Amino acid sequence: MRCLRCNCPLEPGHKSVALYIFAQTVGIKPRQKSAAQRISFCPQCAVSLAMGPPPEGALNMVAWDLIRDLVGSDPALNQAAWETLSGVLGLLPATGTDPDSGSQPAGYFEF
Ligand SMILES: [Zn+2]
Repeated sequence: MRCLRCNCPLEPGHKSVALYIFAQTVGIKPRQKSAAQRISFCPQCAVSLAMGPPPEGALNMVAWDLIRDLVGSDPALNQAAWETLSGVLGLLPATGTDPDSGSQPAGYFEF
């Protein structure tokens, strides 16, 4: 399973937002029902989508409303996005603070 927006892998047990979609006939006999499809977003993309402008298309609009409902009703999802983001930032070395490169000038990257 991958995030539909950024394509990052979403392992089982990882925090994510899942949307399930299925189609069903109404007023037609026999009633038909499609299999359900699952769409997943990582927490950062869910929060980013919810904070962003409304998308185009009626179906996208419905999904956007649902995600906004989740993001807006409880800070847990924002917290999950924040934790992932701060985890990424924590992996980046601060410029000029690496003790092994103390004698080297800071401010540029060496490849
Ligand atoms: Zn994502």
